[in-house]
Amino acid sequence: MRIIDELKDAKTIAVGGHIRPDGDCVGSVMGLYLYLKKEMPEAEIDIYLNKPRTIFNCIAHIENIKSDFNVNKVYDAFLVLDCSEERLGDAALIYRNARKKINIDHHISNTGCGDVSVVEPERSSTAELLYDMMNPDLIDKEIATALYIGIIHDTGVLRYSNTSPRTLQIVAELIKFGFDFPKIVEETFYERTYVQTQIMGRSVLESIRFMEDRCIVSMVSRRMMDFYRVTPKDLDGIVNHLQSVKGVDCAIFMYETGTLEYKVSMRSNGKVDVASIAMKFGGGGHVRAAGCTMNGTYHDNINNLSIEIAEQLSRAD
Ligand code: 5GP
Ligand code: MN
Repeated sequence: MRIIDELKDAKTIAVGGHIRPDGDCVGSVMGLYLYLKKEMPEAEIDIYLNKPRTIFNCIAHIENIKSDFNVNKVYDAFLVLDCSEERLGDAALIYRNARKKINIDHHISNTGCGDVSVVEPERSSTAELLYDMMNPDLIDKEIATALYIGIIHDTGVLRYSNTSPRTLQIVAELIKFGFDFPKIVEETFYERTYVQTQIMGRSVLESIRFMEDRCIVSMVSRRMMDFYRVTPKDLDGIVNHLQSVKGVDCAIFMYETGTLEYKVSMRSNGKVDVASIAMKFGGGGHVRAAGCTMNGTYHDNINNLSIEIAEQLSRAD
């Protein structure tokens, strides 16, 4: 499907993505926005997204993102990327009012929430999927940069198993535009502030292995976040670090979001399907990377997750 085929008569268009937007979400939303501005210069196009991390300021026109969702506007089309309606946050109200709802995603847990839904779980990233829905002749350096960021963030810089030959072909096409990709990888993916490094270090130090060392868990409390003066955005990457410990099949990382409420991130080497576990607790994601929000004490949450993980590991053995 070409995106333009679904937008023929649209004069007002909105593009949005999930709460706590990650690299693929920001890259996809901005890549599509920049592309539509070019392909449909007459149309009025707005972007609705929670404020992205400043590391993404290298993306052109990122300042055009609207993070005030208190609008009554009825758009001809609203494209929701990298998630389904439930994770749109307050932008969901605008989405529901839109005349045509379009959903483009790669999460296996997404059953599709649009009048038109394109959900391809075999795709590394929403950015990769979008590339194949665009007219390649219209892609320019700015669009390429945004899509590249989406792909590298969801593939861990092209090293996760979701990286396919098509992913690499697309990346080859994108880097031909000549943007400074080593700088982008360093500054958006690897570079961490001092406090981000400190809280990662503390999380690793306080992590606990269980289930014969096949699982690892760590938690950051609100007190710790206040102490280091960090926000949830500063905790990205900790769970991946835990998963890279030799012998670990499943890593869990939680941070406290409220009284008896935790945001949970899970990673797996493939033996455990963390998407199915996250879905049982109202979340979603991919087989090897998923998340959810859980209510209860930290230890209750670990217990509840452990039951599911143990069941899957015993089936996998
Ligand atoms: P992370 O652990 O990095 O926050 O998320 C890992 C993957 O799971 C991402 O693809 C993310 O979109 C998805 N994910 C994380 N939390 C949730 C959630 O609460 N609900 C759903 N549906 N997906 C989530
Ligand atoms: Mn994604």
